[in-house]
Amino acid sequence: MTIHLKPRSLRTFQSLLLAWYRAHRREFPWRADRDPYRIWVAEIMLQQTRIAAVIPYYDCFLRRFPDVRALARARQREVLKFWSGLGYYSRARNLHAAAKTIVAQHGGEFPRELEAALSLPGIGRYTAAAVLSIAYDAPLAVLDGNVARVLARLGAVRGDLRAPRAWRSLSETAQQLLAREAASDWNQALMELGETICTPHSPRCAACPIRRWCEARAEGLVDQIPAPRKKRAAVNIKIAAAILRDPHDRTLLMKDPGAHDGVFFSRMWQFPAIEVKRNARSELANHLRATLGVNGIALEALPEARHGVTFRNVTLLPFLAHVEQLPANAVIRGRVLPLESVAQVPISSATRKIAAAAAAAHTLHRH
Ligand code: SF4
Repeated sequence: MTIHLKPRSLRTFQSLLLAWYRAHRREFPWRADRDPYRIWVAEIMLQQTRIAAVIPYYDCFLRRFPDVRALARARQREVLKFWSGLGYYSRARNLHAAAKTIVAQHGGEFPRELEAALSLPGIGRYTAAAVLSIAYDAPLAVLDGNVARVLARLGAVRGDLRAPRAWRSLSETAQQLLAREAASDWNQALMELGETICTPHSPRCAACPIRRWCEARAEGLVDQIPAPRKKRAAVNIKIAAAILRDPHDRTLLMKDPGAHDGVFFSRMWQFPAIEVKRNARSELANHLRATLGVNGIALEALPEARHGVTFRNVTLLPFLAHVEQLPANAVIRGRVLPLESVAQVPISSATRKIAAAAAAAHTLHRH
């Protein structure tokens, strides 16, 4: 793509967008100051999560871990607990590991050099550019979905923006347009424009400060850019999970090394579970026998729950099983706790849904 602006025109373009941003920017907790730690945490939380959903988690997280040293000192399970509900838990693990590196190798200060930032766990080109530019004004352009949409419309770029060549070209354009002396505001201005004015549907072009440079608008192509992405076909998956319950209302959670735990249970504590194909009850019973040595228990089906993970449609099939004793071999590597306390340990939202089905059944049985 090409957006060729003469130097004078480029300066006007930059100053109009910067002025618009400074007048209209929304206040967020991570915009209160230029603390790289706060900006970094926000960038990681915002990676796959909407702003409105992030804010309450962000506030709690920052209260508990107010700086990088506090985060580095914390135990991983404590960090995961404060991440619980946000999903994509590898983000929290990487954040924690990176905090330790920053304290051990960078004196507790987020590194200022791109290479050093990129070597931290969980920090790719986008996050590094975002933190370094927003916190330190480093002259690095960011390119996320919002910025890409704005740039694609400005240059009337057709086709899939995420195709490697198109994305590379957009990155180069972003770097050419960057207001180098005000990289922090500039990057945030482009993102803000994409989020509030140049939105995916019905952009508000009349309020856009850079509309005079917009080729898509001039050519009447705004609604067609960016081109819709080809959707991956959805995959349907069924996961059966066993809520074992002993006479003291205690249950067992595992860190299941099974093939699906990384995706569905985020490598956190989970109920014993397995992907099932035909007969959920008998396949789960076989799994319990093979992995936990649990034999001959009645599995009571509880209401199923839906769970979407990217392109997968997951049906969660919870089964309640009363046992005299929780399996001793599993107790050593698992975690035994009162059923009602399951939500207090770090668990994924899939496990939360299964626990909710068990809690509902428990209440029903009592009445
Ligand atoms: S004029 Fe409209 S389509 Fe073009 S950049 Fe502005 S908001 Fe986006």
